[in-house]
Amino acid sequence: MDIRKFNREQIKKLINSPDFLIIYESLDEPSKKILRPYIKDKKLPSMAKRIKSATKDTVEWIKKGSKFVSNEEFDRRMKICYECEFWNKTHCRVCGCFKAKQKMTSSKCPLPNPKW
Ligand code: SF4
Repeated sequence: MDIRKFNREQIKKLINSPDFLIIYESLDEPSKKILRPYIKDKKLPSMAKRIKSATKDTVEWIKKGSKFVSNEEFDRRMKICYECEFWNKTHCRVCGCFKAKQKMTSSKCPLPNPKW
């Protein structure tokens, strides 16, 4: 949800809502620091979106040789997820993944500035 067309009151309401978070997506080179704020729903993506995302990740993983990360790398990624504001105890609320994606060498955190 792009919030650039929202007025001040609407943005204030969204900021204070328990259901949304504002995150920033880099529009350009990260070094140029041109950011577009948008609202991310704190709820899990729909089942259809989660299946689509998991399928895309799995196809990519197979294409790149079906390799798993080491246990240390998996633990590192999971530690980051457990501390992330988007983790809901079982799933990532951005992409809906649940520990499987963190095992795939071809995957990365879905945020515009990936945390892992
Ligand atoms: S995959 Fe990225 S956004 Fe999702 S919970 Fe982990 S660190 Fe957070």
